Amino acid sequence: MSSLAPAGSPNTPVPAPSRAQVQTPEATPRRIPVAAPDLSGNEERYAVEAIRSSWISSSGAFLDRFEREFAALCDSQSALGVSNGTVALHLALMALDVRPGDEVLVPSLTYIATANACRYVGAEPVFVDVDPATWCIDPAKLEAAVTRRTRGIIAVHLYGHPADMDAINRLAAVHGLWVIEDAAEAHFATYKGRVAGSLARCATFSFYGNKILTCGEGGAVTVSDPQLALRMRTLRGQGVDPARRYYFPVTGYNFRMTNLAAAILCAQLERREQIVAKRRQVYAWYRERLAGAPGVGFQPIAPWAQITPWLMCLQITPEFGRSRQEVMAHMESQNIETRPFFIPLHTLPPFRAESRARNEHLPVTDRLAQWGINLPTYPGMTEGDVDRVCAALASARR
Ligand SMILES: *Cc1c(COP(=O)(O)O)cnc(C)c1O
Repeated sequence: MSSLAPAGSPNTPVPAPSRAQVQTPEATPRRIPVAAPDLSGNEERYAVEAIRSSWISSSGAFLDRFEREFAALCDSQSALGVSNGTVALHLALMALDVRPGDEVLVPSLTYIATANACRYVGAEPVFVDVDPATWCIDPAKLEAAVTRRTRGIIAVHLYGHPADMDAINRLAAVHGLWVIEDAAEAHFATYKGRVAGSLARCATFSFYGNKILTCGEGGAVTVSDPQLALRMRTLRGQGVDPARRYYFPVTGYNFRMTNLAAAILCAQLERREQIVAKRRQVYAWYRERLAGAPGVGFQPIAPWAQITPWLMCLQITPEFGRSRQEVMAHMESQNIETRPFFIPLHTLPPFRAESRARNEHLPVTDRLAQWGINLPTYPGMTEGDVDRVCAALASARR
């Protein structure tokens, strides 16, 4: 599943140990995946309830409840459930009337969906380097990337850390640009005390299996401008006229979320505080154990940020004495899954020719990506699991 999954392997099955494995003292220890969903609350009960009610399609009480609760939690007027986080970005760009030939400023250190969504509407993602202090798009480098064609900025809250939204919004206002938050990895993270999802024209979220909240596949857009929300609602549902059923004034899409998925999300929302608190605990255990380790760098946390850790991030610098590849292979030999940081998008086949033609240089992105690994991070981890990961990392040095 790892190689096929868009962003890791949330559901790596853990096979029951065979008799032979149990009896051998040096048996391979239990696998620690990089991510795993926590579905231990009312998820099953609500999914069964949705099925028994026969409301399994894209309307129903769970969907209404999810949209109402998620909007309130993200301090927004509306939330729209959609089928995944990629579609959420596509919907936001269409609602903002992004067109062929337009340019959108995006970071290169992000999941590929951020840039792919720009292409879906015919726009070109223009890559801007990240700030070493946040690892998110660098507000100081935006201005130089603005051209006559620039329409907006997608600020990604990378690995759970919010981007510097005030500086980004200020620059956007000067140039008449819109801003979208890609909050797929940062549910409930805060910026100067304000919650992700409330910090720009609109924000997008993912509920894929390895994300902070999940329903398997799902996404949402939060938005407070009622005109923009109405445009999104129309485009999400095949373009149907909200006041006239079966009449379609525009070309729309089927981007809807099901009531079945929303049922799972309602259960996740009930336990959001525990889920976020446990992620912060796992993150703190790692920081405690790895503090001062030579050749190990951490994700910086800006003084105004409260992060919701998505995947624990490390920089394995040359001082470590082993390459990132060697470290990852060693962890794998201990049955611990890790993953490399995102490969910078400006170096990938769909985008590199255009990036080269624009003469883009993104040294901070390149350096972070080259040395970065993610360690297992999920609410079901025990302190013992974190000990095992840290011990494996220490033994990679020898
Ligand atoms: C996961 C992710 C997405 C896409 O979400 P899906 O639900 O997998 O489509 C978009 N942007 C970022 C930054 C992500 O991490």
